Amino acid sequence: MPGIDLHAHTSVSDGTETPAELVAAAVEAGLDVVAITDHDSTAGWAAAEEAARGTGLTVLPGIELSTQLDYASVHVLGYLVDPEDAELSAAMAAIRDERLHRAEAMVARIAADYELTWDDVLAQTTPGATVGRPHIADALVARGYVSDRTAAFRSILHWRGGYYAPHDAPPPLEGVRLIRAAGGVPVIAHPGARGPERVIGPAMFGRLIDAGLAGIEIDHRDNSPASRERWSRLAAERGLLMTGSSDYHGAGKPNRLGENTTEPAMYARILELGTGAQPFAG
Ligand code: AMP
Ligand code: FE
Ligand code: FE
Ligand code: ZN
Repeated sequence: MPGIDLHAHTSVSDGTETPAELVAAAVEAGLDVVAITDHDSTAGWAAAEEAARGTGLTVLPGIELSTQLDYASVHVLGYLVDPEDAELSAAMAAIRDERLHRAEAMVARIAADYELTWDDVLAQTTPGATVGRPHIADALVARGYVSDRTAAFRSILHWRGGYYAPHDAPPPLEGVRLIRAAGGVPVIAHPGARGPERVIGPAMFGRLIDAGLAGIEIDHRDNSPASRERWSRLAAERGLLMTGSSDYHGAGKPNRLGENTTEPAMYARILELGTGAQPFAG
């Protein structure tokens, strides 16, 4: 069975490795296909493809779009979107900008109790990157308050930790529509996570499918065994495709490349459906 891992991040968002380093890690892990799915950005695609040249690795270009409903975060993967699509590009730029202000607001709250500045956070990001709590976590690590990102998410950055600010993004229905309109293939990321489990009930699920939802990420470490069973039953009933992925963030998370993989038949369906971009066979 070929190694097809359809969810990975780079320093263009909250991964710790550059796109070229992600590609090297994917080759090292023996993968055949890796999707680059940074949060709200396509900025890493070109460097990943360049690095894949001659390696035999295929890079599937994608995004992980931030959406939000009733203060719950829902992530929608979008494979093969047109990176030049005006509406999707504008939506991603607005989300990245909003994330900056939201992170600044969280840092202002944290700064009341800890020595932490906005410059500390900026020092942990690359220019133009999609900023999130992981970068605040890195700044807290650099200041010596926590040992790693996971410890930061369990304490200061926890949604009940006292410093959390929700971030504002389009609703999932709009996210699915934007990805489809850009020729992409929308797949709900880690549906077993708290946000999607809370806000995607049967009625919303039906509306997302009507809007063009193509698949569900089933095999992901954040989905409990019970939720995998429930979501795969729903996906089978509605003819949606199912994926398995690592959600690799380099050293930023314990998730390892290839820890979950996607069946070739499902990958083939993604290639058939996506019209906004092409996979890059290196
Ligand atoms: P945000 O979107 O800014 O609220 O931050 C959520 C992001 O943080 C997600 O995309 C995850 O990749 C990352 N994240 C969540 N939990 C952890 C953790 N325990 N360790 C490292 N990264 C995490
Ligand atoms: Fe992330
Ligand atoms: Fe996610
Ligand atoms: Zn992700």
